Amino acid sequence: MKITGIEIFSEDIPLKQPFVTSKRSISVIRDYVVRITTDGGICGYGASAPTPVITGDTVGSILYAVNEVYAPLLTGKELSEELLPLVQKALFHNSSPKAAVDIALYDLLAKEKGLPLYRYLGGENKAVHLETDATVSLGTPEVMVDEAKKHLSEGFTAIKVKLGGPKEMDAKRLGALAPLFGKDIKVRLDANQAWTVEDAVYVCNECDKLGLNIELIEQPVHYADLDGMVAVTKAVPYPILADECVFGPDEARRILAMGGCNLVNIKLMKCGGIYEALKIQKIAEEYGVSCMLGCMMEGPVSITAAAHFGAAVGIDCYDLDAPYLCKEYPIEAYTRYEGKNIYIPTEGTGLGITKIL
Ligand SMILES: [Mg+2]
Repeated sequence: MKITGIEIFSEDIPLKQPFVTSKRSISVIRDYVVRITTDGGICGYGASAPTPVITGDTVGSILYAVNEVYAPLLTGKELSEELLPLVQKALFHNSSPKAAVDIALYDLLAKEKGLPLYRYLGGENKAVHLETDATVSLGTPEVMVDEAKKHLSEGFTAIKVKLGGPKEMDAKRLGALAPLFGKDIKVRLDANQAWTVEDAVYVCNECDKLGLNIELIEQPVHYADLDGMVAVTKAVPYPILADECVFGPDEARRILAMGGCNLVNIKLMKCGGIYEALKIQKIAEEYGVSCMLGCMMEGPVSITAAAHFGAAVGIDCYDLDAPYLCKEYPIEAYTRYEGKNIYIPTEGTGLGITKIL
């Protein structure tokens, strides 16, 4: 089966409410969907979302990569797994457009075999049920309490709380939220690089006093401060999750070798897609470390790819709440998102997307 072309088009997906972190605030996801067509009557879907402050990928760089690099590279080629490393090698960085093209190729490869993507990737032949957390955006304690109440009323049992300093303010935020979180609610804190080592220790002491059921602390310090990651990992009693300091396999190996985290956050938009995500997962396994599967604010095409990947390799910690935070769900697909639940049935092939709306 030969690849006949690659197209890219954008979809604007409004959020229920603005998504705010210490790095940015957005109210609409602008998702770029890639469609790879073939002469075999099937097409593959992938997608990427520009997040200039995290990946550095912009609308312009995504369009350039797909139209000027990947379309000429792949058009006319025979579909095969050998194309996957070519996608990675064709460009330095540019992890989001790489992910879009990589996902679309995996979609095609699984469709060609007549399998859902999670089974193509080695997952068992049974329906999948995953559970994601829901994120409380960074804001005033009052606004954060309202948002957390809403997530809890919708049945979420894991809540990710965005923090961003100053440390005393973060302590206030947690103090306001603590009465809502019973012992059965897993609390994940994400500072998005906003803290110093001392700030992290301070906030963790506050968590201790508040009796919060802290499951993990995500990216406490600046992405380049690997010594800081090591220091926080040593100093606090909670597992530290490396996010912005791990894009691809090399960074994963480096921070794990340093002892700078207890968990690694894999995001397809950071690592360039499933081909590299599989490598990160293997490296983490070598170090006896678990992975979280996270996302940017992305549309449902790439989130569905992440869910299939996680199901295939047996990840059990998910932060894939973007579909829940969206007002609309602009695809028809076999995978269903219902509050905290993500269901992938055994039917369907590839990503199981039947229509892009
Ligand atoms: Mg994060």
